[in-house]
Amino acid sequence: MLGSQQGKQLYEYIDNYVVFDLETTGLNPNWDTIIEVSAVKVRMGERTETFSMLVNPERPIPSSASMVNHITNEMVKQEPTISEVFPQFLDFIGDDILVGHNIHTFDMKFIHKTAEALYGNVVSNNYIDTLFLARQCLPQLSRYRLVDIAAYFQMNTAEAHRALQDCIMTQTCYEQMRKIGDKQTTHTCPVCGGRLLQRQGRYGAFLGCSNFPQCRYTENCR
Ligand SMILES: [Zn+2]
Repeated sequence: MLGSQQGKQLYEYIDNYVVFDLETTGLNPNWDTIIEVSAVKVRMGERTETFSMLVNPERPIPSSASMVNHITNEMVKQEPTISEVFPQFLDFIGDDILVGHNIHTFDMKFIHKTAEALYGNVVSNNYIDTLFLARQCLPQLSRYRLVDIAAYFQMNTAEAHRALQDCIMTQTCYEQMRKIGDKQTTHTCPVCGGRLLQRQGRYGAFLGCSNFPQCRYTENCR
């Protein structure tokens, strides 16, 4: 969603969101450009829809970038340019909150730069950076790359660094960290008999069933 104000960074676990990830020609948002954009829509904690497009950057991709993301000049030469891809990405994200890894200092900068260049506007969706959540939730880790967090949760990281795979990995890590972030309580769910957890929601703490999403029972904190 475009607007005159950049979206704010949030630090919470929510049920409906879009995870996104970019691959780029390099690290500098003032000079480098997007070559792949992927996103996954999540509803009630479950992945429901995916979006993934390669982008022709209309310039050579440095080999240093291709080595990381395995995207070559050959792969993008028939692909649409960012002016065609970006509006489709904006359609896909709608006004959802965005979730991604290291997006506060990286991907959001590319997103805002691109929106400014194409429309003279910025992207006003609020966003959650899983890097910041991971530092709170997993203080025992020494590094916080997406692959470090995924490895902690014993996920397969072989496909890391293509945008769609990174989205799926980020989404799984986010949902795993949510479970650690939730505090156990001694209360029992009156619907299914599961344990109630104290969870952090958009409007503060609440009690929710540990069998979510199968059981959707919630109540205010006692
Ligand atoms: Zn329940």
